[in-house]
This record gives sequence, C-alpha cells and structure tokens, in this order.
Amino acid sequence: MKVFDTIHDLRNELKKDKETLALVPTMGALHEGHLSLVDLARSKAERVGVSIFVNPMQFNNASDLEKYPRDIERDLELLRGRGVEYVFTPHIDHVYGSYQGTKVTPSKLGSVMEGPMRPGHFEGVCTVVNILFNIFKADVAVFGEKDFQQLRIIEDMVSDLSLDISIIRAEISREEGGLARSSRNERLSTEDREKARIIFKALDGAVNLVKGGEVSTEVLLEKGKQILSEISELELEYLSVHDEGSLEEVSLLSVERKCRMFFAGYLGGVRLIDNIALY
Ligand code: AMP
Repeated sequence: MKVFDTIHDLRNELKKDKETLALVPTMGALHEGHLSLVDLARSKAERVGVSIFVNPMQFNNASDLEKYPRDIERDLELLRGRGVEYVFTPHIDHVYGSYQGTKVTPSKLGSVMEGPMRPGHFEGVCTVVNILFNIFKADVAVFGEKDFQQLRIIEDMVSDLSLDISIIRAEISREEGGLARSSRNERLSTEDREKARIIFKALDGAVNLVKGGEVSTEVLLEKGKQILSEISELELEYLSVHDEGSLEEVSLLSVERKCRMFFAGYLGGVRLIDNIALY
C-alpha cells in the first residue's frame, strides 16, 4: 500500500498504471462501514484508492470540525488489511493551499433535509469530491447510502457536469442492534450508543408497517416519532419520507415510487443521521 500526502506525488504514481481504479472518499476514523465500501470498490476495479481528508469546507460548525475523530495510524492499518493500493492523506494546505474560492453548487436536491440544517455543507462536499475526482481520475467511486442525500447529490453532479466517472452505491452497514456505523458513534457514551438503537427501531418499524400495507406517510411518521420519544434525551431534527430520486417529500406511498424514511437528530451532543428504504 502506498501512502501519499501531496497531489503531485499521487498523480505521478497513478499515471504509471493504466489498470482500472476505484476511489473511496472518506474523512477517516474508519470503521466496518467504510471497509465495506473498500470491499465493494475492490469488486469493481483492479486498483483501489482511498482518500482520508477531513474537509473543513463541508463543516458549518467549528466545534464539530474540531471534535471530528482522527486516527490515521489505525486507518492505515485497516486499509493495509484490505489490500488497498493507494491512500491519499493530504494536509489541508495540499488541497486548499493555493485555493482562490471556486465552488461547486449542488443540485436542487441540496435544498431539503441536511441542506437547510447545514448551510454550505453540500457545496463543500461537491467541491472537495470534484477535487478528489480530478486528482484520482478513477473509473468508479463508491459512496454509502448512509449519506443518501449526499450520494444523490453526487450522482446529480456527475450527470450535470458530465464527469467521467461512475458512482457505485453501497448499502448501509449497521452495528449489532441496528445503529448505522458512523465515525461519530465513537463520541457516544456506552449508554447513549445503546440508546441510539432506537433510531433503527423507528425506521425498521416503518418498514414493517409498509409491509403490512400502510401507505400513509403521516401514519408512518407518527409511529416513528412515538418510538423515538421512548428516549427522552434524543433531540429530533427531522423524520420525513422522501422520493429516492427527487428527494421530494411524499405523503402517500405507491409501488411505482421508491421512497425512504430519513432521520436526523442529536444524542448526547452527537449529531446522527440514518435512513431506510420503505420497500
Ligand atoms: P465519511 O468518512 O463519513 O465521510 O464517509 C465516507 C463514505 O463512507 C461515505 O460515502 C459514507 O456514506 C460512507 N459510509 C459511512 N458510514 C457508512 C455506513 N455505516 N454504511 C455505508 N456507508 C457508510
């Protein structure tokens, strides 16, 4: 595994080999969820590259950025174990050192859910993902459904700007008990990590109602909120049902329309998001 911290050295190395390349962009503090993306990437291309970069531009909250977990040595060990070919761990100056302010604006999908909650977040994501795509020139890039809105926005960006890369979707990897794996889970106390299982319970409860024939999202959301209220410390930001493609809010489910239920909230000062397919 070769590790690079400058764009110049990584580019030179990547040029040497013409085999297909899959990129997995991450912010580090890697867990099994990230590694499932790496494994999927491996099945899609001959070489796998992983970037580890906590991108300041996508944080709208300075303390969230500061508290973001970092453990580069452990990350490299995990990636070595997965046989990754290239890891890019740039210092912020190597990415934004001569940056003059060009930004990529997300599609209209950025105006719902995480958009209003985290102003500038998706602009930061689109901009850094563009930079990473331009550096790696990979054939495919893998993104997790854990951040489903981000994934859809990246898909729109690739299509709108005719970027020469295919986006691969990776399913959500969950801890025992259903909590979606996240680097932020490390910041939860042991008790809160247990309590956070209520999120999956609420989302899975909705899936079960749908399986039983329920089509009204009002009913699903009411039930979901009722389940979430079992944990009084959980501060709900949103629980809503959206069309998978347009991300428009949906009031009635139908077989022709793929929809997901989305959650965002705080537990013990840690912001958690999750979602589930309602079909
Ligand atoms: P992050 O390091 O949080 O920016 O995540 C890097 C990539 O891993 C993104 O595409 C995420 O959607 C994906 N990811 C993070 N957690 C999970 C998970 N539990 N299951 C699937 N993908 C995930």
